[in-house]
Amino acid sequence: MTTIPFNKPYLHGRELVYIAQAVASGKISGDGLFTKKCHSFFEERYGFAKALMTTSCTDALEMCALLLDIKEGDEVIVPSFTFVSSANAFVLRGAKLVFADSEADNPNIDAGQLEALITPRTRAIVVVHYAGVACDMDRIDEIARRHGVTVIEDAAQAIDAFYKGRPLGGIGALSAFSFHETKNVIAGEGGLLAINDARYTGRAEIIREKGTNRSSFFRGEVDKYGWVDVGSSFLPSDIISAYLFAQLENLDTIQARRKAIWQRYWDQLAPMLPEYGITLPTIPDYATNNAHMFYLVCRDLPQRTALIAALKAQGIHAVFHYLSLHDSPYFQQKHDGRPLPNSDRFSNCLLRLPMFYELSDSDVDRICETIGAHLSAS
Ligand SMILES: *Cc1c(COP(=O)(O)O)cnc(C)c1O
Repeated sequence: MTTIPFNKPYLHGRELVYIAQAVASGKISGDGLFTKKCHSFFEERYGFAKALMTTSCTDALEMCALLLDIKEGDEVIVPSFTFVSSANAFVLRGAKLVFADSEADNPNIDAGQLEALITPRTRAIVVVHYAGVACDMDRIDEIARRHGVTVIEDAAQAIDAFYKGRPLGGIGALSAFSFHETKNVIAGEGGLLAINDARYTGRAEIIREKGTNRSSFFRGEVDKYGWVDVGSSFLPSDIISAYLFAQLENLDTIQARRKAIWQRYWDQLAPMLPEYGITLPTIPDYATNNAHMFYLVCRDLPQRTALIAALKAQGIHAVFHYLSLHDSPYFQQKHDGRPLPNSDRFSNCLLRLPMFYELSDSDVDRICETIGAHLSAS
């Protein structure tokens, strides 16, 4: 029995060639040849005012918090059903987190609840496009604009996904992408800050370069560089960007394969699961599907636990996802006590199936058959 992992990093083709080329160029620190190619790719393909590679999505989110000058007493609204980094980036600057619930039928932040969470101290709303499916951005933007609050997109999972034809990561003032080995295009660890409000560009370059104006210096705009602001080391080695660029130039092929895998799951599972009280992902009319993830929502926790065990017994690694942050060991005592039932339901019931570029059709079929056999026997 061969095992099927949940995720598997892959080489699309030219990754190692480009890494060798980066080394041969004589410069593998930040902002080398391939980093610039990655920046141009994102700016040209998605129209971001500025794209800056970072060492991770987590770092790009930390840059967002620095760029907004988040400080003690500021409030930031974040969905509870997300990765810790969406929240940590702002906690590090002393913000008070106000957790929002998910929609009933998908894990994205419930735009209908935002108004009630805004106070005069609210500075930002962080939206997370879960599974690469867009949040309800027009409603979120309208509320944010009316209250003078900045929208930040955690677009970690959202490469090449769209909201009413607009690329995700191109809507909020600032956005963060991830190229962690579990995302659609990978670099091991890596991220991107996408700047859509050009007022942030100059300072973003400085914060990313340890608080110095080295980027202006390299462009010949100043004749020496020095310490001009706070900052840290947020720029990745060109080796990371070399790996990433080999994937980016094949993004359409990668996306086509992922979408075919997603569709194959859907075609076999959609007719099978409803009778067991298991639901499949919903994609709202305003969103596209970038096939980042294929997930199921089980009826309850015992059903999910049994399904994970049944798959594991057949060598198939399916995994649950986030545990509500408002209820985490770190935050539990700080939370204001509001129940967030949808977030808790996704924490207990959501199950992700294996999804990676090299997953074969026969693997997908075997996973679906295993699910079917387990459910009909239980
Ligand atoms: C993967 C992920 C992150 C973190 O990305 P890193 O590049 O590992 O820092 C943040 N937010 C969400 C929603 C993610 O899925």
